[in-house]
Amino acid sequence: QIKDRKDISYQFYSHEDTIRMLEDKAMEDEFKHSLENNCFEVWYQPKYDPETERMVGAEGLIRWRDEKGNVIPPGKFIPLFERDGLIKVLDEYVFRKVCMQQLEWQKQGKEIIPVSINLSRASLYFDSVVSRYQQIADEIGVKTHLVPIEITESAAIDNDNIKGLADKFHDNGFPLLVDDFGSGYSSLATLNMKCFDTLKIDKSLIDYIGDFSGERLLEHTILLAKELGLCVTAEGVEREEQVDFLKQMKCDSIQGYYYSRPLPKEEFEKLLLTA
Ligand code: C2E
Ligand code: MG
Ligand code: MG
Ligand code: MG
Repeated sequence: QIKDRKDISYQFYSHEDTIRMLEDKAMEDEFKHSLENNCFEVWYQPKYDPETERMVGAEGLIRWRDEKGNVIPPGKFIPLFERDGLIKVLDEYVFRKVCMQQLEWQKQGKEIIPVSINLSRASLYFDSVVSRYQQIADEIGVKTHLVPIEITESAAIDNDNIKGLADKFHDNGFPLLVDDFGSGYSSLATLNMKCFDTLKIDKSLIDYIGDFSGERLLEHTILLAKELGLCVTAEGVEREEQVDFLKQMKCDSIQGYYYSRPLPKEEFEKLLLTA
C-alpha cells in the first residue's frame, strides 16, 4: 500500500517537470555563482536635455558577463529570473551598485546627476521594498533623490497598491518614473494616476515621428503630461528629426542611441564633468 501511495505522489510531476526543476536549480546555482563573482555589471545610458545638450541624468541597466567574457543583455535573462523570483535580488543588487557608484563619483568631485534604476513587478510586491531601499541608501550615504525609480506602466497598472507604494516612495524622497509609457495598456488611466513625477515615453511612440497623425498623438501626449505637472523623457531616440521634434515639444530629456548607447562604467564616467 505504501508503494501505491508513493505512486500517487509521483503522478504530480511529469518527466518534463522534473527536468525543468533540475534546470531551475542549475539556473539558481548559476545565478548565485554570478552574483558572488561579480559577473553582473551595471551599464549607464545618459539622458540629455535637448535644449542645452547637457547630460541631466542616466539610467543604470544590468548586464551579465559569461565565462567567455560575452555581455548578455537583460532581455535574455530577466524573463527567467522573473519566473523564479530571483529578479528581486538582482534589482536590489543594481540599486546598491548605483548608490555606491554615486557615492564614489561624489568623492571624486564629479558632477552629480540622478541615475535611475528599474524595479520589476516582483520587487513591487514585497512589502518592505520602500523601507529596505531607503535603508540601503542611508547606509551607503546617498540621497534618495539621486536614485529615481523606474516602474513600467504595465507593472504599475497591475499593482493594486500602486498609490500606496508611490506615496511611500515619495515620503522617502525617491522620484518615480513611468517606464515604457504608451507601449500598450490604458495609458490615459496612467496619466491620471497621480503617482509619478516623470513619464518615459516608449520607443514605439517615438517611432511615430515622421507620420502626421502619429506626431499629433505624441504632441498632445506630451502637452497633456506637462499640463498635469509631469516631466517628460523620451526613450529609444535614434534620429536627428526625432530630437528636433522633441526639442520643439520642450521634452525635458532624451535617452537613446542618437546621444549614446548604454556604456560600461569606465566609459560612462568619461562623460561626467569634474566640478
Ligand atoms: P528599459 O528600462 O526600458 O531600458 C531601456 C532599454 O532601451 C535598454 O535596453 C536600452 O539599451 C534600450 N535603448 C535605449 N536607447 C535605445 C535606442 O535608441 N534604440 C533602441 N533600439 N534601444 C534603445 P536594455 O539595456 O537591453 O534593457 C532592456 C530592459 O531590461 C529594460 O528596459 C528594463 O525593462 C530591463 N532591465 C534592465 N536592467 C534592469 C534591472 O536592473 N532590473 C529590472 N527589473 N529590469 C531591468
Ligand atoms: Mg527603464
Ligand atoms: Mg523603457
Ligand atoms: Mg523598454
